[in-house]
Amino acid sequence: MPIDPKAPYDDSNIFAKILRGEIPCRKVYEDEFALAFHDINPQAPVHVLVIPKGRWVSWDDFSARAEDDEIAGFVRAVGAVARAEGLVEPGYRMLANVGQHGHQEVPHLHVHLFGGRQFYAMVS
Ligand code: 5GP
Repeated sequence: MPIDPKAPYDDSNIFAKILRGEIPCRKVYEDEFALAFHDINPQAPVHVLVIPKGRWVSWDDFSARAEDDEIAGFVRAVGAVARAEGLVEPGYRMLANVGQHGHQEVPHLHVHLFGGRQFYAMVS
């Protein structure tokens, strides 16, 4: 089920539990601003999720309200994860689903990084 994009941040969401160490993940990167780990249901040979450490429901929430240093730190972390995973050559796809029409399912901002195969012009 897509999330309600207007709902307040829910500390019981699955990525909040991963951030608190209450459930495991296959971590690939962590810094002051972000945590990255393998998606549990990968849609590509490499499918990593990058999440900010702050309590942000979605890209809309984060881009409107986070401090500039947090936004810069998170954006840099996404790039660092892609480099660390060896995705820059020959390339990769990144996306963030937002709200109901974006079919966002977990109400904590996450950027998907997909790599290891050829992608085509549109996603469904
Ligand atoms: P969304 O549709 O919200 O953009 O994507 C949520 C993603 O989180 C999905 O790709 C799903 O496979 C992944 N996911 C859901 N639960 C877990 C979990 O407990 N662990 C990990 N590593 N990924 C999860």
